[in-house]
Amino acid sequence: MPAATFPLVMNAVVAALFAASYLALALLHRGSTAPLWFAASFGAIVLAPLAMLAQSYTGWVMLFAPVIYLSFGACLILMVPGLAVLYRKPIPWRLVSGLGILMFACAALALQVTVNMTVRVVSYQLPFVLATAASCWVVLRDSPRRMRDLLLAGLFALLCLHVPLKAALAISLRTGPHQTNYMDTPFAVVAQISTGILMIATGFLMLVISVIELVRETQEVADTDALSGLLNRRGFEQRASDLVHGQAGAAPFALMLIDIDHFKAINDTFGHGVGDLTIRGFGGMLQHSLPQSALIGRVGGEEFAILLERASPEMARLQAESVRLAIIGHDAPDVPPFTVSIGVAMASRAEPLQATFARADVALYEAKRSGRNRVCSAEEEVLAGNVVPLRR
Ligand code: GH3
Ligand code: MG
Ligand code: MG
Repeated sequence: MPAATFPLVMNAVVAALFAASYLALALLHRGSTAPLWFAASFGAIVLAPLAMLAQSYTGWVMLFAPVIYLSFGACLILMVPGLAVLYRKPIPWRLVSGLGILMFACAALALQVTVNMTVRVVSYQLPFVLATAASCWVVLRDSPRRMRDLLLAGLFALLCLHVPLKAALAISLRTGPHQTNYMDTPFAVVAQISTGILMIATGFLMLVISVIELVRETQEVADTDALSGLLNRRGFEQRASDLVHGQAGAAPFALMLIDIDHFKAINDTFGHGVGDLTIRGFGGMLQHSLPQSALIGRVGGEEFAILLERASPEMARLQAESVRLAIIGHDAPDVPPFTVSIGVAMASRAEPLQATFARADVALYEAKRSGRNRVCSAEEEVLAGNVVPLRR
C-alpha cells in the first residue's frame, strides 16, 4: 500500500465530517449562509484525496489530475465568500471570480506535461497561495479582530506560506502532486500530513467561530423587537442591568419610561397599520434625538425605556424634555401628530433594576394623571432644590 494512503484517507474522512457539520449547522439555523459556503468548501475538498488515491491505483492522470486540482482550488476559493458572510460583510465577488478564472487558467498551464517543471509547479500552486491570502485578508478586513479572528487569519497566513514551501520541496525533490508515482514519494506524505493538519485546524476554528456567531445572532433576535428594531423588554433589562450593576457603565444612570398618549385613539382613528408606523417612527426618532450611548428599548406595546449614562437628575430631566418636544414637532411621513408622557428615575448599583423601573413607572403615572404630554421625575425633591422646575 502506498505510503500516503493513510493520510489521504484520513483527510477525506475529516473533510467529509467538516462538510457534514457545516451542513447540519446551516440546517439547524436556516437563513444563515456562511455554514453553507463552508460545507461546499469542505465538500469540494473531499474529492481531492479520493481522486489522488484513484489516480495512484488506476494511473489515469489525465482524468484525475484536474479533479484533484479543481477540488483543492474550489475548497480554498469558496472559503472567501463564506468568511465575508460569517462576518456580515458583502461578498467580494470580483475577487472571488478573479480567483476562479485564475484557477482555470493555471490548471490549463500546470496540467500540461510538456511545460517546464518550475513553471508547472508555480502555476499549480499560485491560485492556492492567492486564495489563502484572500481569506487572510477578508478575516483581517471584515472581522472585529478578536483573539479567535486573529488566530484564524494566522492559520490562513500559515496555509498561504505552506503552499510555496511545498512547491519548493516539490521542485527540489523533483516530484509533485500530478505524478502517477506521487503516492510513494516522501513529498506526498509530508504534503498530505502538513496540509491536513492546517486544514483541520482552520476548519475547526471556522466551525467554532460559526457556532459562536450563530448563538450571538439567535440571542440578538431573541432580544430584539421585530416592529421597531429596538431592544425588547428582555434585551433592555439584561443590558441595563449589565450597565448599572456590572462594571461596564458610567454612573450616574437615569432611567426614562415613555408612554405614547392616547395611543388607542391613534389605532381607532387611523387604523392599526398607522399605529404600527407610529411605534416604528417613534423608535427612529428616539435613536435620532438621544446620545449614541443611550440604551433604548420597546418594553411594552407603546411603552419605551431609555437608560442614560453619566446623567445627573437635571440632565436626565432636560433630555426627557427634549425628547417630548422633539415628538411634538416631528415631521415623520405617515405618522400622525402625537404626544408622550415620561417618567424619570435615577438608577444606582444599590437598587435592583426592578425597583428603579417601579419608581419610574410611578413618575410616569403621575405625568399621565396630571394631564399627559409632560415629564415627571421620581427625584422631584432633588430637582426642586437645584433647578427651575420644568414641569408644566
Ligand atoms: P394613555 O397611555 O394616554 O393612558 O392612553 P393609551 O390609549 O395609550 O392607553 P393604553 O396604554 O391602555 O393603550 C395602549 C394601546 O396600544 C392598546 C393596544 O391595542 C395598542 N397596542 C399595543 N401594542 C401595539 C402594536 O404593536 N401595534 C399597534 N398598532 N397597537 C398596539
Ligand atoms: Mg399610552
Ligand atoms: Mg401604555
